[in-house]
Amino acid sequence: MRVRFAPSPTGALHIGGARTALFNWLLARHFDGTMVLRIEDTDRERSTPENVQQILDSLRWLELDWDEGPIMQTDRSERHGEALQALLDADLAYRSNATADDVKAYKQRHGAERGFRGEGEQGGAVRLRVPDGATVVHDAVRGDTRFEHVHMDDPVIARADGSVLYNFAVAIDDLDAQITHVVRGEDHLSNTPKQLLVLEAAKAVGFGDGAPLPQYAHLPLLHGPDGKKLSKRHGAASVGELRDAGYLPAAVRNYLALLGWGAGDDQTVLSTPELVERFTLDSVSRNPARFDEVKLKWLNGVYIRALGVKDLVERVGEYLDANGHAGFRGDPRFARAVEISQEKIHTLADFWALSGPLLAGPVDDAKARERWLGPQGVAVLAQERAALAQAASFDEAAVAQTLEALVSSLSVKPREVYQPLRVATTGTTVSPGIFESVALLGREETLRRVDAALSRR
Ligand code: GLU
Repeated sequence: MRVRFAPSPTGALHIGGARTALFNWLLARHFDGTMVLRIEDTDRERSTPENVQQILDSLRWLELDWDEGPIMQTDRSERHGEALQALLDADLAYRSNATADDVKAYKQRHGAERGFRGEGEQGGAVRLRVPDGATVVHDAVRGDTRFEHVHMDDPVIARADGSVLYNFAVAIDDLDAQITHVVRGEDHLSNTPKQLLVLEAAKAVGFGDGAPLPQYAHLPLLHGPDGKKLSKRHGAASVGELRDAGYLPAAVRNYLALLGWGAGDDQTVLSTPELVERFTLDSVSRNPARFDEVKLKWLNGVYIRALGVKDLVERVGEYLDANGHAGFRGDPRFARAVEISQEKIHTLADFWALSGPLLAGPVDDAKARERWLGPQGVAVLAQERAALAQAASFDEAAVAQTLEALVSSLSVKPREVYQPLRVATTGTTVSPGIFESVALLGREETLRRVDAALSRR
C-alpha cells in the first residue's frame, strides 16, 4: 500500500487537512505501507515557503511522519511536460483555441447532453480527448459512481504556455509515485473522473509501469456542532491553534480519527497504537462528521489525567515557555503545582488559569475580594492566620487538620473558611485544593500573602 497526503500550501493546515493526513497515516501504518508527502505548490501566488513550513511543523507536532517526500509539485514540471507531450504525440490530447464563449455556443448547438469537443488547432490550450464510454469511480467510502463520457467536456489539461493544470499534475504525480490508495476530502470527488481519464491516457502511452489504477476513498465533510460546514466560527480551526490552545497531539489524533471513522463499538478513547491496529477504510462513514471542540476538550482532559506526572510537568513547562510564561518551570514549586492541578485541567493552557497565581502571586479579582474578604471573611482570615502560624508543621495533612479544626470550632460551612484563604493567597476563587495549595506555598509565603490581604482593608 502506498498512500499520499498532498496539501496545497495556500494557508495553515486546518482540521480537515489534518484529518486527511491522519487517515492516510493510519492506513499506511496499519498495512505497513508507505506514506508519501507531496506539497501541491502550483498556485504560485498563494503558495508560500512560510505556509509550507507551517504545514510541516503541524504534521510534526501531530507526530504524523512520512516515509517519502516532501515532493514539491513545482519540481516536477519537466516531468509533467514530458507526459503532456506524450499525450499530444499520441493524439490523446490536442491543442485548442476554444474560448469560454466557444464552449457556450457549442453547448447551445448540442445541448447540455453532450460534452464539449474542441477542434484541433496549431496552438492554444491542451485538451484531453475524452474517449467513448464511461468512467466508473470505485470509491471505498461512497461506492461506485458512473460518469458517462458523452456528458463530459474534453478537459483542459495545460495552458497555452504548456504549464499543466491541477488535475493533470495530480494524476501524473500519483502515477509516478505508484500511489495505490488516494484518500482525501469529499470536495475532490468531482475531480476524480478527470484524473482517472488522465491516468488511463498516461498509462496508454507507457507511463506508470503497468501499475493498476489507484483505489479512491473520499472522506465525509466536516461540520460544526450546529450542522453547518466547519469554519472559524466553530473555534480552533488550524492545527497551530489547537497546539496554542494547549491540546495534546495524542488527544487530537484520537479525536480527529473519530471524525468520520468509528471502531464499531462506540469506544471513544483510543490510543494511537489502538487506532493503527483497528483503522481500515471499511468503517469510514459517508455521513458528514461533527467537529465539536467541547468533546475534544473533554477527551484532552482524559489524556492529561492519564499522563505520568513527570511527563505532564514537562509538557506544561514547554507550553508555558512557548506561551508567555517562560521561566516558571525553574520554580522549585512548579512540579508540585502541576501535580495538584492534574485532576482539574482539560488543556495545558488551563494550568496557568488555575495555578498561575500560586507561582506568580495573587491576581486581582475585585469580585472575589468583595464576596469573600468583607468584614466577616477578614475576621475568619485573621483566625486562620493565627492557627496556621502555630501549626506544628506545614505539610498537607497538618494544614488540613488546622483548617478543619477551625471549621468545627467556628461551626461554619467549610467554604466560609476556605474561600477567604483562597482569595487571600491567589486573588481568585479557583485554585487546586486549598490544603494542597497552601502547603505548596509554605508557611512563610502563605502568611505573607494573608498579611497583605489583611492590610489591604
Ligand atoms: N492539494 C489538494 C488539497 O489540498 C489535495 C489533492 C488531493 O489529495 O488529491 O486540497
